[in-house]
Amino acid sequence: MRFRPTDVDAYAARLKADDGGAFTRRLHAEEALTESEARFRSLVEHSGDVTRILNVDGTIVYASASQRQVLGVEPGVVVGHTSFEFMDRESVPRARATLANVVTTGRTQRLISRIQHADSTYHTFEAIMQNRLDDPAVRGIVINTRDVTARIAAEEAFLDLTRLRSDFIATVTHEMRAPLTAIVGFGELLQMHWGEFSDERRLERIEQIVSAGHRQLRLVEDLLLVSRMEAASLAMQYASAAIANLVRQSAAELQTSYPGQSVVCEGPPRLLAWADAARVAQVLTNLLDNAAKYSPEGSTITVTWDLEGTKVVVRVRDCGPGIPAFGREHLFMPFGRVAGSYLRPGRVATGLGLYISRGLAEAMGGDLDLEETGPQGSTFRLRLPVARVYRREGVPEAMLD
Ligand code: ADP
Repeated sequence: MRFRPTDVDAYAARLKADDGGAFTRRLHAEEALTESEARFRSLVEHSGDVTRILNVDGTIVYASASQRQVLGVEPGVVVGHTSFEFMDRESVPRARATLANVVTTGRTQRLISRIQHADSTYHTFEAIMQNRLDDPAVRGIVINTRDVTARIAAEEAFLDLTRLRSDFIATVTHEMRAPLTAIVGFGELLQMHWGEFSDERRLERIEQIVSAGHRQLRLVEDLLLVSRMEAASLAMQYASAAIANLVRQSAAELQTSYPGQSVVCEGPPRLLAWADAARVAQVLTNLLDNAAKYSPEGSTITVTWDLEGTKVVVRVRDCGPGIPAFGREHLFMPFGRVAGSYLRPGRVATGLGLYISRGLAEAMGGDLDLEETGPQGSTFRLRLPVARVYRREGVPEAMLD
């Protein structure tokens, strides 16, 4: 038993009579012990881990104060309860089995479980369970628990990324092979049978080679853009961009590759977006190209634009068959082509256009989404920040006309 000086006079008398120094030495030893206990307690409390000691049946007999920060629960609340009461139900059987294993084998075990935090969110914890039943200072199972929610999330994100990367490489190689096979195949055919083919057949084969070459080129250009976009090394040339001009320019370009395609353009002539005009044109070209190639010949494409709040909103509407529900979530993913989509004959689809377009829109502080779709057609909506060019009267120039 330690000496607890309750009677000050008796304490003073003992000190005086302590001629051999035994009492003083004992006092010093007790002080040293208290100091060392405080040091270890502080280390345990501030280690970032929760330390608990359990009985063999799982009842908590000690919980470090650090669990207040880690779990949001006061140590006093858990002492006397079992650890299992604070876990989600799926983790309990595994936790019971691990505890039994530690008790019977004496081996240290690691357990990952989900525990509900006091703020109702679930966190992932890693617990190291040690059998210290034979240690007279402990006589229990020591559990050091650490919140690994962020670490596990980062590990999962890394695995997802690795999977995505290898899927991407597999798809790219597959996509590259198809046009290359056509180029090599038709080339060899011409080489071997040049003399047997009529001029007309030769021209046909050459056209097939050129078209496969274009497909390959388009894919390589798209991939280059994707890699620059993902490396965030895409330099933007910001300026006030006149949306009406950009829409008309993209519509005119579309009509060169889709002769006779009707495109209706409607919107204020002087609306300005704060963006990189070349990149906006690229997005518009992709949306118009999709609107044409995924809808029947002779149907109309409508492009409208307006100011909505602080955004310039451009809508590209087609009269195609719409996009089935199962395909909508894949639209903006790399190579996210919708199986069974109607495609005008002779047109190329890489599945990268919308992924690139959304990436460009977001890089310019805007966004791109599918606003609506159905049997009457689809509407894609592009939003970009408005150019804040004010005239002296305080009227935003973007609002003029
Ligand atoms: P690509 O057109 O080169 O395949 P996109 O990323 O532009 O690539 O489009 C992805 C997919 O979304 C297309 O393959 C098509 O299935 C679908 N899609 C895109 N735009 C439309 C549209 N206007 N109408 C119907 N389906 C569309």
